[in-house]
Amino acid sequence: MARVLFLGGLGRSGTTLVERLLGELPGICALGEVVHLWQRDLRDDERCGCGLRFSVCEFWQEIGEAAFGGWGHVDVDRITRLRATVERTRHIPRLAGKTLPSGLREAVVEYTSFYTAVYEAAALVSGARVIVDSSKHSALAHCLRWAPALDLRVAHVVRDPRGVAYSWTKSVDRPETDGAEQMTRYSAGRSALLWTGHNAAFGLLARRGVPTVRLRYEHLLEDPHAELRRLATHADLPVRDEDLAFVSTDAAQLRTGHSAAGNPMRFTVGRVPLRRDDAWRQALPPRQRALVGAVCAPMLHKYGYKEIS
Ligand SMILES: [Zn+2]
Repeated sequence: MARVLFLGGLGRSGTTLVERLLGELPGICALGEVVHLWQRDLRDDERCGCGLRFSVCEFWQEIGEAAFGGWGHVDVDRITRLRATVERTRHIPRLAGKTLPSGLREAVVEYTSFYTAVYEAAALVSGARVIVDSSKHSALAHCLRWAPALDLRVAHVVRDPRGVAYSWTKSVDRPETDGAEQMTRYSAGRSALLWTGHNAAFGLLARRGVPTVRLRYEHLLEDPHAELRRLATHADLPVRDEDLAFVSTDAAQLRTGHSAAGNPMRFTVGRVPLRRDDAWRQALPPRQRALVGAVCAPMLHKYGYKEIS
């Protein structure tokens, strides 16, 4: 049974960095945001974290062979239709129930079977004991809860919503499209609502019995060794001191990865400085900052953030 550590939370919360750091640990294979694999990689042949187009990356071709006898056997249209049917935020109340209506259950089981096949093949190809999927989406995590034969663990990553909101208002190129496209942008108010909704959905998933550990991005930067150990322990993976030699409180040394999709940071190789990005404290206009603080107040408090800092 594949053991998967699913990184959940709203985008711009630092999940890509968490994934890259975890991917350096022996016994872990980090796949990036598998939710985007079907469209961006199988269909659009975007670039893997190693820099090569998906269709010529040997790592992913081996996974396709092991999972499906080759990616050519995967019906992307079918997956897209299933995704539209089951993986929607509005379905979370039903997905979080004790039972699923039979029609929905069949669709969820079929949809998640594609993910399970990829996870199992990745474990086989890489020899890793733990697969990391940084898809983030709460609706997908709720779907995966129903996947038979999957050992699902969740790391719920949260970051100060004012930092998250500032990040969503900035424009960032998507390097995998060679500058043709930019990453999605949201207003501060929209980002605050999404932050609240996604984080609440992961709280609900934990209450439904999915083993979940919460990680504050700011804590990871303060003490990466302790936080990485905590995540590895959550996935029942032993970590030796020497396994953490690649990271200090100042920087991490990253090797080439094969992240399928996600934040542009997935392409970074070599020394990466680790420092808190607190630009929002100066750059996020006071009214937007107050708005985000007000919308997110109950959960800011719950997660231990000071409302005014
Ligand atoms: Zn690759």
